[in-house]
Amino acid sequence: MRSVINGLKRAVKATNYTPLAQNANLFRQFRLPETRQFSVESSPACWNCQKKSKLKQNMICSDCGHLQDVNSGINYFKLLSFPIQFSLESQKLTRSFRQLQTIVHPDKYSNRTSREQTNSADWSSLINKAYKTLSTPIERGQYLLQLEGEQMPQDNSDLNKEFLMAMMERNEEVEDAEDNQTLEGLNAQLIDELEDMAQKLNILFESQDLSGVKETLVAMKYLLSIQNSIKQKQQSLLGS
Ligand SMILES: [Zn+2]
Repeated sequence: MRSVINGLKRAVKATNYTPLAQNANLFRQFRLPETRQFSVESSPACWNCQKKSKLKQNMICSDCGHLQDVNSGINYFKLLSFPIQFSLESQKLTRSFRQLQTIVHPDKYSNRTSREQTNSADWSSLINKAYKTLSTPIERGQYLLQLEGEQMPQDNSDLNKEFLMAMMERNEEVEDAEDNQTLEGLNAQLIDELEDMAQKLNILFESQDLSGVKETLVAMKYLLSIQNSIKQKQQSLLGS
């Protein structure tokens, strides 16, 4: 959250905001476009050449080529050059991720100013975070939900009892499993179900069924937690 606020602060600073009263004429002539969802990302002036040039890959001044300060509020889809939607091609995402990491690689900045060295490390970690978020269906789903202004439910009150009972039973199956083969079987089943749910999320996002999205994400979290129990159990079997 803090990073989002800092990003906003930077963006507000960057627009050279002048109080409305002093600028009334300007505001009369100037009408905001109808949708300004990502207007906070308008680029600030370059710290090196002071020009408000376009940014290459959202990071580099196209005028002087200096690496700009990290914009931690940037939309992850925009950063990785993807449309804002659930469906994505994971190989393409990985390619885009690697290209960006090459561009900001610290080795490229070892002879540059300390500001650029810091910036390269900051961008690199933001790119990692964005990639991790978008490459995992459950995290991508939660991120998109946030972009829609929605939050994940804080408790399980919306889940139906049948589902919760089924989840408890499956946890017991893991606890009762006595060999690795049984655990692998349970895990394979979970992997299939998680894939099905990711497909379902795609349809739900397309039809803007956000309550369905939430319900599916919560169910996925349960399945992931069972998967973790399986891993733990496998480790304890190895140790015994
Ligand atoms: Zn510049």
